[in-house]
Amino acid sequence: MPWEYFSDDEMRCHCGCKRVEMDPYFMSKLHSLRKLLEFPFLVTSGFRCPEYNEKISSTGTNGPHTTGRAVDIAISGKQAYLLVQYAANFHFLGIGIKQSGPDEKRYVHLDDLSEKEGFPRPRIWSY
Ligand SMILES: [Zn+2]
Ligand SMILES: [Zn+2]
Repeated sequence: MPWEYFSDDEMRCHCGCKRVEMDPYFMSKLHSLRKLLEFPFLVTSGFRCPEYNEKISSTGTNGPHTTGRAVDIAISGKQAYLLVQYAANFHFLGIGIKQSGPDEKRYVHLDDLSEKEGFPRPRIWSY
């Protein structure tokens, strides 16, 4: 799948299953946000197969990464501030923020699950 700013490899499940099934609508929003902000998004997690998601996430075999509608982006400081600020305008409905601890461990999770699809949760939360 050709995306201007993102490679298949960075979106691929990390478990070794080789699956990379990102949702096209999600990717188009991520692309628009990336284009607007003009700095690289370092994706640390994109698609996850249900088995892998269950291993590493409290969302078990479901969760937005398993439908290709979530990414985790390693980011901190002013760029994290801008990312969170603009993500809300691009219809990302789940914004998880880890901005404590060392810079290299800081990240922002974005997904676009609606209230109906998602479990009850706040729109923005911190890890
Ligand atoms: Zn996998
Ligand atoms: Zn995530």
